[in-house]
Amino acid sequence: MKYVGAHTSAAGGVENAPLRAMEIGAKAFALFTKNQRQWAAKPLTEEGVAAFRTNLAKAGIAPKHVLPHDSYLINLGHPELEPLEKSRHAFLDELRRCEQLGLPLLNFHPGSHLKKMHEADCLKRVAESINWALDQSESVVAVIENTSGQGSNLGFRFEHLAAIIDGVEDKSRVGVCLDTCHTFTAGYDLRSVANCEETFAEFDAVVGFNYLRGMHLNGSKALFASRVDRHHSLQQGELGLEVFRYIMNNNFFDDIPMVLETVDETIWRDEIELLYSLIEPE
Ligand SMILES: [Zn+2]
Ligand SMILES: [Zn+2]
Repeated sequence: MKYVGAHTSAAGGVENAPLRAMEIGAKAFALFTKNQRQWAAKPLTEEGVAAFRTNLAKAGIAPKHVLPHDSYLINLGHPELEPLEKSRHAFLDELRRCEQLGLPLLNFHPGSHLKKMHEADCLKRVAESINWALDQSESVVAVIENTSGQGSNLGFRFEHLAAIIDGVEDKSRVGVCLDTCHTFTAGYDLRSVANCEETFAEFDAVVGFNYLRGMHLNGSKALFASRVDRHHSLQQGELGLEVFRYIMNNNFFDDIPMVLETVDETIWRDEIELLYSLIEPE
């Protein structure tokens, strides 16, 4: 089974996100459990948590098909001590918020070396940050997202994801999320079936499908291998639909949250329908 949805807004409270997912016919969704552009956040209230769980059940969506995304400010590979500490504490807070909501996954971007650190050292630091946070939390799986490699962001090579996983002590609590736009703009082609086969075989060889815990389904405004992160709607841009047909018909993508972060939210319902329509009868 495929579980497709979108990154829905939690404006007005986290409990609103599952209702918005339901409105667009989603079977999965992503959300920010706090304002993604601010460090500080009010703790979740008991009422908010209870309402979230009620609304999730109402939407008929399982907790494992929700893929919370952490704040954009967090950099677990920060080259300087003070901002690194700040990032680690914020990340731990995000993990605990997921636990409060009964959600098993937290999706995050690995980190940036800011041109002040070697790649390998930065990747090691990201793994140390994950270890530190996992030690102080109970159960949530840290889901590393691949990136376009814009600026000094790491995570644009499958080898980066593998290096971070290698440094994480508890392998049962680390996973990855592949974003189709990021994969493509990082230089892994996905425009034809042959491209998809080659790219996902490389992913399996370097990282392993056993670590795949989520997908971001996005078109790309940016060119192949441009290292630029600009999402587009599925039927527009540089990527084309073949990769989505491939994903919707491949068992490796079963039972994980697959989330649209496409640019026009007014057509999310249509895009979800389109993705399900790509499934070919067996
Ligand atoms: Zn992301
Ligand atoms: Zn992106």
